[in-house]
Amino acid sequence: MSGTAADGPVLELLSARRSEIAPGLVVRRLLPRRQHRAVGPWCFVDHFGPVTPAPGRPGMDIAPHPHIGLQTVTWLLEGRILHRDSLGTAQLIEPGQLNWMTAGRGIVHSEEAPPGGTGTVHGVQLWVALPDSHRAVAPAFEHHAELPRMAEGDTALTVLAGRLGGLVSPAKGYSPLVAVDIALPSGGRVRLPLDPTFEHALLVLQGSADAAGHGVGVGELLYLGTRRQHLDLSADEASRVLLLGGLPLDEELFMWWNFVARSRAEVAEARHRWQRGDFGTVPGARRDPLSAPPL
Ligand code: MN
Repeated sequence: MSGTAADGPVLELLSARRSEIAPGLVVRRLLPRRQHRAVGPWCFVDHFGPVTPAPGRPGMDIAPHPHIGLQTVTWLLEGRILHRDSLGTAQLIEPGQLNWMTAGRGIVHSEEAPPGGTGTVHGVQLWVALPDSHRAVAPAFEHHAELPRMAEGDTALTVLAGRLGGLVSPAKGYSPLVAVDIALPSGGRVRLPLDPTFEHALLVLQGSADAAGHGVGVGELLYLGTRRQHLDLSADEASRVLLLGGLPLDEELFMWWNFVARSRAEVAEARHRWQRGDFGTVPGARRDPLSAPPL
């Protein structure tokens, strides 16, 4: 999985794959892709919604499942989701807030509708691969109701991870990375400073944008390569863009189901531990844990 970072600035437009992550919940999967298994440490990008639950139904209901070797990042544009995990966390997330979960050596979580339902949900879930030096850290959960924000003209920037100029996210990362939500008004334009040692990509969550002279729409990932000093973004309509980046991974990942590992043997061992019940339980979860698929 390593070695896919471009040596310099490029523009590659990749289309999402559609994936059904739960009955009736179809997402746009933008990473991993064959061409780019990761962008920096970002090894998984799912864009879901906007999706409105059927009348009388509560909405999202993802049963308890395990993770190892990664961090999960949840960011919403619309709706409400209740996160529970095996540390005993029960945390509602709403638009503008960040859920940042470190799986480390192992955690279990569920994502369900809160009382009253999710409403229309729209957002992303991202995974950050932990570097080999830190992938056995203790599991942890962070909720950040407030994040660093700034305005550039009429464009609103929110730093989810890493830093942008003087703004630094409070989320705990283990390798150099960045994630920025950019809300462009109709006719908006902005120039973002980039770390030239990073690999970057962006996706459009709403509307459409022009990035470095290339048009991007919903369901597309624009891979930007490395060695860029800045990025020019503009939009003809009100749009939301997510910029992701980080130092290119120099490790071979072995991803299977909900595990980010380094070998098939490690995945088999984690699967065995899960099926045996060694990951712990999620207090208050509404559903029974998922069973791992066959290896
Ligand atoms: Mn999960």
